[in-house]
Amino acid sequence: MTKPVLALVGRPNVGKSSLFNRLIGERVSIVDDTPGVTRDRVYGESEWSGRGFNVIDTGGIFDENDNILNQVVLQAQLAMEEADVIVFVVDSRDGITPADEEVALELRKSNKAVIVAPNKSEDNPDLHAAEFYQLGFDKVIPISAIHGANTGDLLDEIVYHFPELDTQVEDEYKDSIKVSVVGRPNVGKSSLVNNILKQDRLIVSDMPGTTRDAIDTFVKREEKSYVFIDTAGLRKKSRIDEKLEKYSVIRSINGLERSNVSLLLIDGTEGISDQDKKIAWLTQEKGKALIIVVNKWDIVDKDNKTADKFKEKIRIEMPNVSYAPIVFISAKTGRGVEKIFPEIERVAAQHDKRIPTADINRVLEKAVNRTPPPSKKGKQLKIYYGTQVKSQPPTLVMFINDSGLLKNSYKRYLQNQLRRVFGFEGTPIILLGRERK
Ligand code: GDP
Ligand code: GDP
Repeated sequence: MTKPVLALVGRPNVGKSSLFNRLIGERVSIVDDTPGVTRDRVYGESEWSGRGFNVIDTGGIFDENDNILNQVVLQAQLAMEEADVIVFVVDSRDGITPADEEVALELRKSNKAVIVAPNKSEDNPDLHAAEFYQLGFDKVIPISAIHGANTGDLLDEIVYHFPELDTQVEDEYKDSIKVSVVGRPNVGKSSLVNNILKQDRLIVSDMPGTTRDAIDTFVKREEKSYVFIDTAGLRKKSRIDEKLEKYSVIRSINGLERSNVSLLLIDGTEGISDQDKKIAWLTQEKGKALIIVVNKWDIVDKDNKTADKFKEKIRIEMPNVSYAPIVFISAKTGRGVEKIFPEIERVAAQHDKRIPTADINRVLEKAVNRTPPPSKKGKQLKIYYGTQVKSQPPTLVMFINDSGLLKNSYKRYLQNQLRRVFGFEGTPIILLGRERK
């Protein structure tokens, strides 16, 4: 999620980089390697009152040897372009200089919040403040970057001007279900997302900057919020260069990794391909909830048994993801698209589910009684107890006598028993054995 941006503006030597360092503290900051950058730190992250934000020291971006007036005007312009709040640093000992007036003239053209900070005011702050109101801004807060005087007041004022909406979106982003849409080229991934976006009951906003190379789409529907994560296929085709194909694969894996739920699209006119199986396997490997979406159902020749037959085919060809619900849609006509949302809600809840230890052990005990664990060379697997250590995906650890005895087939049997009782629809379950002698 994009954080608000604070820019520091002012002529050389007023104390911008000193203030920058004070705001950033010991935090790691991004070093800009653009030529002409004289300082090593130009961008950094900071936090005040629980609000994270980025800081730009515009003084470090332009060539200090350039004409001062040019330089400060460029700084001001950059700040107005990039920042939510601008701190205009001046030197309280020098009073207002012509360069300061030039910056003020520029900054007054913008409607961004500007706070004037007369720096080096450690001796008599109040005295210094008065003069600088002449620059024409409502807020003047004298500070000392070096000594830290008044920087708390300055930060309060800065945070006060950050956009309100951003916080809201940020919270909603955190609370929303992240959905990745995956599948091989041409199955209809972009068509599906576009169809979802077309429905007017949705509030949609692009959230650029969420990650470096992806554009996430925030969707609000019936009081619930979702983020559709851009995987390679969701981008406009023209934007993907053939040569960038390999990056697009990385991007879809990234997208998958950042999601809770994956929608795997399959082309209903073509049946199941090896690539479909690979992607399904990948969602399982990454521990994501999965919904299989059979698309292009509008152009499939069908009678009332066709869907069931297709389902059966999926179950046979993709036995490892038998937990995934299957829906049939047409991304083109929009038919069936509605059904996807309740499925997303359902599998996301299962993916996040936690089962009390006592309940797990009741099921394990019953399962063991019904089908006793395998033994090897006279030694039988003993399961002392099991407990869920994690959700998303549900991960269970069983304490056992000997890992060598826990065969995959028996593991699958136990997983099935757990599913029968607890459901876990749409999500993989991870079952681990840990030796306890
Ligand atoms: P910049 O060019 O605007 O980034 O300014 P710097 O941060 O490099 O500071 C310029 C000079 O002013 C340095 O010698 C700092 O030590 C000094 N300076 C910065 N802040 C203060 C302050 O609050 N009080 C005093 N007395 N000197 C300061
Ligand atoms: P992507 O590569 O997975 O993003 O696939 P696109 O969304 O670009 O779709 C590929 C092609 O399939 C386009 O020509 C779409 O118009 C078509 N298409 C997508 N969904 C459907 C559908 O449900 N029915 C039909 N008939 N065509 C579809």
